Amino acid sequence: MQDKSLIYKRLYAWYESSRRVLPWRETENPYYIWLSEVILQQTRVAQGMEYYLRFIARWPKVEDLAAAKEEEVLREWQGLGYYSRARNLHKAAQMIVESHSFPQTFEEIRALPGIGDYTAGAIASFAYNLPYPAMDGNVYRVVARLMDIDEAFDTTAGKKLFHQRIEELLDRDNPRLFNSAIMEFGALYCTPVLGDACEACPLADICMGHAHGTADLLPVRKPRPKVRDRWFTYHIYIQGDKTLIQKRENPKDIWYHLYEFPCEESVSESGLSTEWSVLRQAKPVCELTHVLSHQRIHARFIIHKVQKMPEIPGTILIRWDDLDDFALSRLTLRALDTIQHKA
Ligand code: SF4
Repeated sequence: MQDKSLIYKRLYAWYESSRRVLPWRETENPYYIWLSEVILQQTRVAQGMEYYLRFIARWPKVEDLAAAKEEEVLREWQGLGYYSRARNLHKAAQMIVESHSFPQTFEEIRALPGIGDYTAGAIASFAYNLPYPAMDGNVYRVVARLMDIDEAFDTTAGKKLFHQRIEELLDRDNPRLFNSAIMEFGALYCTPVLGDACEACPLADICMGHAHGTADLLPVRKPRPKVRDRWFTYHIYIQGDKTLIQKRENPKDIWYHLYEFPCEESVSESGLSTEWSVLRQAKPVCELTHVLSHQRIHARFIIHKVQKMPEIPGTILIRWDDLDDFALSRLTLRALDTIQHKA
């Protein structure tokens, strides 16, 4: 391992001069830090910031979030995807309130629903300055390059190896500063596409990936699983100012507890509604492909203007203008956007 004190010195000097002012890095409030970490997973900072500010304005204390209805939390979360995170956030807030204080050890934080090693490490270090690493994608990248590790970081063995290395590298006197600095360095400087960043990098002379010419190839990840295709036909029934929606009820499937128009799923493209070709010519429709991490949804929306609503089990009748009050899947929002543009 390289000289750690030299790494800290260079990294902290870079951080002091180049860091962004992010509200969740200016606070030691564990609730705010936790909120920001959950929101920022898979979300860009600019978009995450809007959600973060809205959440803390609406629910300034963990007690407020715990007292909210799940429906309201999902509604506020709309657009961020991964709704199970919002549900876990809400459930964990209720558990925190029941236990009368925010957990203060890594193990207690880690035991909350939806909190993994990364988030527990981030809260423990940022809120309480406890010596735990916070390994996000940026940190994996910096560590892989700095130490020239070509083991895939997303396998069990790889995670273990990276964890050992970051434990060795962690600045135990300043875990808050160390985690903030290395995360920010990965986010802003040692980015996936390096260009000529290494030339002027403050760590260039101690970076093994740079010395060995491998930095551009790191980190290595395991091959991606195959994406599964699904075909959905949505029926938008309109009677006057009314429409039908339904809640997705399968906890193991996507968009659990979110609302959408009545949906038929078929196992292949050819299994789609036989009426489709006729309907396609006769009715206003929209077709969208929606890509999730392991699924590609081929969706078709058919509008049926009807005199009498069909009776479809599990659906509820609402006013079209009240659609906004329901937590809708991202795909449904995209379809509404497209349809309203066409109208
Ligand atoms: S020298 Fe290049 S690869 Fe190494 S830490 Fe700096 S930017 Fe990253």
